[in-house]
Amino acid sequence: MKILIVEDETKTGDYLRQGLSEAGFVVDLVRHGTDGLHWALEGEYELVILDVMLPGMDGWQVLRRIRERGLTMPVMFLTARDQVDDRVKGLELGADDYLVKPFSFAELLARVRTVLRRGRAANDDAVMRVADLELDLLRRRASRGGQRIDLTAKEFGLLELFMRRRGEVLPRSLIASQVWDMNFDSDTNVIDVAVRRLRLKIDEGQESKLIQTVRGMGYVLDEPEDD
Ligand code: CA
Repeated sequence: MKILIVEDETKTGDYLRQGLSEAGFVVDLVRHGTDGLHWALEGEYELVILDVMLPGMDGWQVLRRIRERGLTMPVMFLTARDQVDDRVKGLELGADDYLVKPFSFAELLARVRTVLRRGRAANDDAVMRVADLELDLLRRRASRGGQRIDLTAKEFGLLELFMRRRGEVLPRSLIASQVWDMNFDSDTNVIDVAVRRLRLKIDEGQESKLIQTVRGMGYVLDEPEDD
């Protein structure tokens, strides 16, 4: 799950990025309002965390432009300004939550999970299935044929992407942009190694192999056709 943070305060931004990464999210951090808007529009995020006072373009404008473009991902404001007016303004513009600084990381994480859960409940099931493979997004559990599979945060993100786009051949560049952050160098073989590990956990010892390599193109997850 990808989260964009737009926060110009170095300390707060770094702290959030680290905490949310450790909680298993893919996190991109930008420190400028205009960059924030650009990435929010292009980056396919599931959540945007926006500071209000930003260089370039303030958080209100960023949110307005996101909604004008028809994007409906949840947006959470993070700000030192705790006036009621600001809160109302944020919610009127289509913010999903509003957190006043200083806040504890535990509180932020709880709010992030709530906002994401709300978004998901409206959009799709929390449990995805392909053949006998199941991925429970809320409980963050994977199983195949009823057998629990332990996944790292990266493997979980990778499997979620594969299952969301089942049957589609996913090029490495797309996998990199969805499961790794913006600073990731996709020229390395990190993706191949991660897919190989995931495949061992999912397909090893199974009669039907769900993850396939498409030579020169990328990877695909699907239920193999019977022949
Ligand atoms: Ca600020």
